[in-house]
Amino acid sequence: MGFFIITGKREFRLRPQAFRNDFCRHCHEEVLAVRYGSFVFGTLFWIPLLPLGPRRRWLCWECFQPTHSHPGPKRSQRFLMVLALAILITGLASVLPEEAPDTKPILIGLIAAMGLGFIWFLYLGISHRNAPEWKPHLARVEPCQDHQCPLCEAPLHLTAEGAECRLCRVKRL
Ligand SMILES: [Zn+2]
Ligand SMILES: [Zn+2]
Repeated sequence: MGFFIITGKREFRLRPQAFRNDFCRHCHEEVLAVRYGSFVFGTLFWIPLLPLGPRRRWLCWECFQPTHSHPGPKRSQRFLMVLALAILITGLASVLPEEAPDTKPILIGLIAAMGLGFIWFLYLGISHRNAPEWKPHLARVEPCQDHQCPLCEAPLHLTAEGAECRLCRVKRL
């Protein structure tokens, strides 16, 4: 008899904590970024049991991606794509000889398109991370001087460390 233990992760108390000017690697420009904080629990059968600790990440207010994360698919995702495409192409090629003449060109077109995808992902997989330089841009980002909360548009209150929104409880950094 089969027995499966389903594990996962869940985030609790996800809320915005702060905002700042930042450089987004996905938009490749200076953007406003909001820091979201949460508490992560490891789950067993969807029940949160294991506290894994707090998690913080800066999200771009334009595209909602983590501002400093590498744009494009991850290495493991690219590897899986290459593998999936290779299996699909061999599968389709094996049924090709038995195909009726009117559907054959469609199948050949499909195999060709997948072949191109295969070559592209293979190229991405072996080529170096050739994302454009972004650290010099980040160094040029000026601190945020906004007097309005980006979340609720209420005026910010000045504090000893800077400014914050009393409604959203987000700090300007
Ligand atoms: Zn962005
Ligand atoms: Zn606010």
